[in-house]
Amino acid sequence: MTTPWGLPDFDAHEAIHFFTSQECGLKAVIAVHSTHLGPAAGGARFWHYAKDEQALTDALRLSRGMSYKNAMAGLPLGGGKSVLLADENRTKTPDMLHAFGKAVESLGGRYITAEDVGINVADMIEVARSTKYVAGLPNSAGDVGGDPGPHTALGVFLGIKAAVKRALGKDNLAGLHIALQGAGSVATGVALHACKEGAKLSIADVEEAKAHKLAAATNGKVVSPEEILALEADVLSPCALGAILTEESIPMLKCPVVAGAANNQLATEEDGQRLQERGILYAPDYVINAGGIINVCTEYLGDGDASLVRQRIEGIPVRLEQIWAESAKAGRDPAAVADAMAQRLIGRA
Ligand code: NAD
Repeated sequence: MTTPWGLPDFDAHEAIHFFTSQECGLKAVIAVHSTHLGPAAGGARFWHYAKDEQALTDALRLSRGMSYKNAMAGLPLGGGKSVLLADENRTKTPDMLHAFGKAVESLGGRYITAEDVGINVADMIEVARSTKYVAGLPNSAGDVGGDPGPHTALGVFLGIKAAVKRALGKDNLAGLHIALQGAGSVATGVALHACKEGAKLSIADVEEAKAHKLAAATNGKVVSPEEILALEADVLSPCALGAILTEESIPMLKCPVVAGAANNQLATEEDGQRLQERGILYAPDYVINAGGIINVCTEYLGDGDASLVRQRIEGIPVRLEQIWAESAKAGRDPAAVADAMAQRLIGRA
């Protein structure tokens, strides 16, 4: 099928903005997928891409995912995402972050930014010097805000529990083996929750030191990034980067459940069907990983406190249950069911 602009991942995005500054080296894409339900909200990713086109593809796919995620979480937000292209050394300067803030500001509130991979709370403080359309800023005790990672981790943990209940009939994670891909912000939170409930963890990160640190904190075992997907486990929890569930990797999986934080885990729509055919229960990524955006939204709109954030995050396993029930009834894979639900919500059915 030919798509406008020759971009396979273009999905009637409302706007794609490109920003460059030779002075500070900023090179960024902000993709606004949909503002149907409210301003387009989604994090900023700072990543080194081998080719610029890969950054654009990421922005297009991730912004659509944000439209679906925000809609499914019941938030009054549309979907957008920004990608800042890092050089090989990942040089990130305050000037670059200010310039990015100005770029966000120039969109007049159509896009709201926050943290994503490679961007932390300190970076958001810099960004906030040039724009008011920002969340994920530090909070004082009891207030909503700060790093979305722990909130995402809580939602993923609750989602894993729901998946384990459905697939294995177990009420908790005691004695279950979780294979965790990634040992970053979200993976750390997931691992700590799971360890507290008695799960056994195998952890892999391309930055081996991170995997060792997390394994030490959770009595887990470090495995290599090459091994983690094919490990025999009760749950595979992808908490690194996207497109890891593919025609090649799915036949190798040895787990009844895939439930993790990474965005865009399925390389293609067919991969949802492939998981279903193998009898593997999949938790659609943008549903299970909505905890962070729930916190960001509550902070940005100022419409609730920490207990409301918790209550909203507790809605994640309920939504997953609805998706799995509909999937079983309709004989469609959970990712396809979630996409259809999200598309109805954003007026694109
Ligand atoms: P992070 O940067 O803190 O951690 C990601 C980790 O994955 C890093 O330690 C990195 O070294 C590792 N990694 C990269 N490629 C890998 C590979 N092939 N094998 C093993 N490890 C690998 O990021 P994060 O904030 O923890 O986010 C993790 C994922 O969850 C991302 O896909 C992100 O988009 C998604 N997500 C995050 C949030 C949030 O609140 N932070 C919210 C929703 C979704």
